[in-house]
Amino acid sequence: MGILIDARALLKRYTVGEDEVLALDDVSCRIAEGEMVAIVGASGSGKSTLMHILGCLDRPDRGTYVLAGEDVSRMSADRLAEVRNRRIGFVFQSFNLLPRLSALENVELPLVYAGRTDARARAREALATVGLADRMRHEPNQLSGGQRQRVAIARALVTDPALLLADEPTGNLDSRSGADILGLFERLNTEGHTVILVTHDAAVAGHCRRQIHLLDGRIDDPGGTQPGPEALPGRESTAPAPLATAATFAVLFPAILKVGLKSLVANKLRSFLAMLGIIIGVGAVIAMLALGAGAQKQVLDRFTAMGTNVLLVMPAQRGSAGVISGSQQNLKIDDALAVAREVAGVTFVAPAVSSNAQLKYYGKNTRSNIFGTSSSYFAVRDLEIDRGRAFTEGEVDRMARVAVIGPEAATNAFGDSDPVGEVLKINGINFRILGVTKAKGEGWGSPDDRVIIPYTTAMQQLLGVDYLREIDVKARSEADLDRVKEDLTQLLRKRHRQLPGVEDDFRIMDMAEIRKNATEVTGVFKWLLGGIAAISLLVGGIGIMNIMLVTVTERTREIGIRKAIGAKERHILLQFLIESVIVSGLGGFIGLGLGVGLATVVPRFAPLPALVEWRSAFLALGVSAGVGIFFGLYPAWQASRLDPIEALRHE
Ligand code: ADP
Ligand code: MG
Repeated sequence: MGILIDARALLKRYTVGEDEVLALDDVSCRIAEGEMVAIVGASGSGKSTLMHILGCLDRPDRGTYVLAGEDVSRMSADRLAEVRNRRIGFVFQSFNLLPRLSALENVELPLVYAGRTDARARAREALATVGLADRMRHEPNQLSGGQRQRVAIARALVTDPALLLADEPTGNLDSRSGADILGLFERLNTEGHTVILVTHDAAVAGHCRRQIHLLDGRIDDPGGTQPGPEALPGRESTAPAPLATAATFAVLFPAILKVGLKSLVANKLRSFLAMLGIIIGVGAVIAMLALGAGAQKQVLDRFTAMGTNVLLVMPAQRGSAGVISGSQQNLKIDDALAVAREVAGVTFVAPAVSSNAQLKYYGKNTRSNIFGTSSSYFAVRDLEIDRGRAFTEGEVDRMARVAVIGPEAATNAFGDSDPVGEVLKINGINFRILGVTKAKGEGWGSPDDRVIIPYTTAMQQLLGVDYLREIDVKARSEADLDRVKEDLTQLLRKRHRQLPGVEDDFRIMDMAEIRKNATEVTGVFKWLLGGIAAISLLVGGIGIMNIMLVTVTERTREIGIRKAIGAKERHILLQFLIESVIVSGLGGFIGLGLGVGLATVVPRFAPLPALVEWRSAFLALGVSAGVGIFFGLYPAWQASRLDPIEALRHE
């Protein structure tokens, strides 16, 4: 006959404000295996306190407690959780079942935390033992008080613990159910379980052969350490050694996931609101990146459409002491003419000036870009005429007031009527429209929203300038490009009388360079938009953290119950972390849908192309899961650190 409980000189003191309560004062007791003991005393005498210490839920301030040969009074929180799980079955006055879980799920929970794959089968057996084989699927609120207490007893039994502890197990029951429950404990005791009952009721205590009395924290134990009535052999705990962590999680994970989803569904509106930040954040990231990528592609496509053997000559930015103070005004018509005349391998040269101007047609005012160039511009840029004709070299020489209009500018200025042959006032001067160009594509700087006129007319009559914005040069072939560039540089340096060693006062860009610049600019733009959207992800994360903190507080009691039956800190941590990842991950999915939806709808209503890159979609999903982990970690950590007994007392 082994000694199961050997407690010596236990002392527990509570301090409330100035007052000190000695809940246990030098309490020693020894209880043998197979005994059925009642701890009796008036309310407030320290019964529950003793019970919590014997059940490893709480630790004494002083004294030692050896349970089944192990000193548990100095164990770590996780080791204690293991001891509770393997050696102790608790039955509380208020049942302490988990709501929203069926009787079966409640009973199997201690085995789930132990990582036992036979949890379900053993839970069924335990429920059958307490006479509830026909109530397995019922949730606690669908059971009577007596039945709930039976479920609680089944949960205490299911791990086949060495010690059954019951704190006022009949206190919340009517006398008949109370008698049933006591009968059940007596039966379990004769089957070999050690039972300790706490009660303030002498009649209940009468069911036990040995009674330990408590009076204001001091013990009176007339029975001393008595062996049990039947000469039972020393009872070996049949609880298996704890399994490897991986095996535990394989059993635990589905249970955790289920609880997480249930709590999500039970708090639909709240969960949705918690997700909203993530939904908006991910939606914005996806939509913004898609619009950015679309704009980038459009720009690149446009440049590609211009042809690869085009060079743009522009004035250099005048930068003194690192400050860019505008373009120089050193590119002249004579430069353009000289290029056409002197550089070999050049097929077309088009000088260009441009400015915004007011268009007026029969009292209707619009604004558009005025682009002054030569007749070869259409060839340089592969710009085709849809209706009417382009202007000729002769008209350029004559400084004729004629114009070719882009389709977008045409619609803006003329509405539905045909502009060809009409007279349009540009900044108050009459121009005759000769033709309309074919649409090239939408977006900024598009040739579609442009009025093209002879550069001579533009410079002298409209703008009053003598310098160019750019000279567009088309080489005969791509192979000539490098040599043409070189010759151009030499020619312009000579014409501008630049001394050797002085930097060029102009820039020559080819398509490769232009594409690179465009990619850089739109790339920056894309990540800027994405960055702004990412901030809303951050805000979403804070929202999730807030909700998780509320959830942990609300479910403090649940956490206490889980810990009482053997959940370790990491189990609780994982549970709340998974719940927060479910919320953020689901938010991420909905946000992805929203973003893709926006990227589909926006281009229909605005001249903004969008291109969803799956890379960014995966990134956003990954980030939202990461947000869930990052912002869920603190609440989950708080939950895992709760003291089991404090958590159980939480109202
Ligand atoms: P019983 O279960 O016998 O009714 P308890 O063990 O619950 O008594 O309490 C013993 C004494 O300790 C009581 O006087 C009670 O007020 C005090 N006490 C119990 N728990 C706490 C606590 N968490 N904080 C402060 N005092 C406590
Ligand atoms: Mg009590």
